[in-house]
Amino acid sequence: MPESINQCPLCGSQQSRIFDRRKFRGHLVINRLCTNCGLVFQSPRMTEDELDAFYKKEYRQVYQGDSGPMAKDLFVQKGRAHSAVAFLERSIPPPQRFLDIGASSGILLEFVQKKFGSEVVGIEPGDSYRAYAQERGLEVFKSIEEMHSANVTGFDLISMMHVLEHIPDPVGYLRMLREGMLSDEGFLLIEVPNLYAHDCFEIAHMTSFSVHTLKEVLEQSGYQIYAIEKHGYPRSNNLPLYITALAKVEDVEKKKVNPERFVLIKRKIGMLRRRILQKLFPSKTWIPLPQPSGGTSCE
Ligand SMILES: [Zn+2]
Repeated sequence: MPESINQCPLCGSQQSRIFDRRKFRGHLVINRLCTNCGLVFQSPRMTEDELDAFYKKEYRQVYQGDSGPMAKDLFVQKGRAHSAVAFLERSIPPPQRFLDIGASSGILLEFVQKKFGSEVVGIEPGDSYRAYAQERGLEVFKSIEEMHSANVTGFDLISMMHVLEHIPDPVGYLRMLREGMLSDEGFLLIEVPNLYAHDCFEIAHMTSFSVHTLKEVLEQSGYQIYAIEKHGYPRSNNLPLYITALAKVEDVEKKKVNPERFVLIKRKIGMLRRRILQKLFPSKTWIPLPQPSGGTSCE
């Protein structure tokens, strides 16, 4: 049974109200707004065991209608990898040891290896995606635990592309990376859907971030924002569907959360802007995907 989240995952407040309520592929998905800090999070939501089972069996099928990599999926992953590598290139020196959490078919690992000559390692829980990456000669583990058992650690760059929104305790998770896996001068590369442009309150998204709340989550976890961008690549030329952030390890965790205000109004304005752009410039707004696209068209 899904569990209710009684405390905001960012500030710990117990005060929240319903922000969005919808059906997603037969599942009722309710997102709440923390009235103290402005974070939007799903509650009730699946327990960790339910999530585990969901990721193992349902996830790829629900989203793509198949459990292995498909043309649409690979197209999106390649586009994301291009965009991420370009962002890294203009922001930081080449990484020596790179870890991609949620490595999927390993495309970002290959891109970083090729571009910067880095040693690359991935973590991917999905069996078919991991097998696909391993067949291409990449070192990809099933979980962080499995990677630790193999004594693999010490990264100066860790990426989580479209992963943080799936993590039940984002602050705890980012702290764990900082304390156990990143070097003192290490960087974190994060990409998440943007609450103010991305429409999918998906069943697997535990948190929906804005630039403000992503920054707060990073600072509470002991990082400082180094560079941050909103963009739509590879799905749109003009909608800021995603937020990409580079954060640097800091010695101290920020104590107090700086609250975000007017979250509902900002969401409404963002989605209205999206509808207007779609209407006025349809071909710019959505970049076509390879056919057949399969499954749902979550952005
Ligand atoms: Zn809060």
